[in-house]
Amino acid sequence: MGPDDIISSLRIGARMGRVLAERIPLHCICGVREKERHGRTVLFADIAVDYDIIQCLADDKIENAVDYSALASTAMAFTERTQFYLLEKLADSLVSHLLASFPRALSLGLRLQKNPAGWGNTSFSCSLSGRRSLAILGLGSNLGDRGRALEEATERLAAIRHCRLLRSSSLHRTAPLLRTDQPEFFNEALLIETLLSPMELLAEMQSIERAMGRLRGERYGPRPIDIDLLLFEGFVSSSAALTVPHPGLRLRRFWIEELADLGLILPPASGAILRQRCEQIRKCKNFTKE
Ligand code: AMP
Repeated sequence: MGPDDIISSLRIGARMGRVLAERIPLHCICGVREKERHGRTVLFADIAVDYDIIQCLADDKIENAVDYSALASTAMAFTERTQFYLLEKLADSLVSHLLASFPRALSLGLRLQKNPAGWGNTSFSCSLSGRRSLAILGLGSNLGDRGRALEEATERLAAIRHCRLLRSSSLHRTAPLLRTDQPEFFNEALLIETLLSPMELLAEMQSIERAMGRLRGERYGPRPIDIDLLLFEGFVSSSAALTVPHPGLRLRRFWIEELADLGLILPPASGAILRQRCEQIRKCKNFTKE
């Protein structure tokens, strides 16, 4: 198991089941044609929800299942209150609304179908899916009241729409890694569950960094708050804008320890990763001498 999929091991014990509700009639204003703007159209929705059925198998209670009649009525009530031009836009907001309303749902697929007047038996549909993902964020601070900064960042992260804080690691005090002429860091890792995409989550993290006084400037310099995306379930990326798993994940002992606090044991780093670490340290030594 690589570091990219290790986060899924937190779901071990899950027994995945699916409920499928088909041809749910939704009455809504949706479409770009003049006629569609003035009266409700009937769309038909097929909704598939994947969730861990282990608990409802254990006690046979509807509270621990995804109630398919509640699923249909929630979808109907939501679409009655909305107005969109595009089917895609309606589908996207309905997927988010249903995932937020059914916390047991791990992923949800939706197909919306319409039969516009004048097209005989032809129907058009739009399919979309969304999921609830686990993510691990690494927080660090080495300027000002460092303990308070971690608390504030945690509160702000927990308050992001479509994010839920599941666990926090203990607080670790660490010597600065690459530039040693600066105060000690306070670090902490958080396990969250989110409906956001990795890029949306990164944008939220950066806006919290800015709100808390983080200025982009000197790399590896002192900072009131730094928030890194360490792991995101089912997602791997190596672009400069977002590298996940975080390239330093298995190189920083405090992250390895914080992940262990969250219940994740990382496999040992390969020779290639260790060579990369040595190269990084060499570069940094040259950099601080200049
Ligand atoms: P830093 O100064 O270390 O906070 O780096 C911030 C920059 O790294 C931003 O431009 C991000 O877009 C980019 N970046 C790439 N991967 C990640 C990641 N996994 N977590 C946070 N920032 C990242």
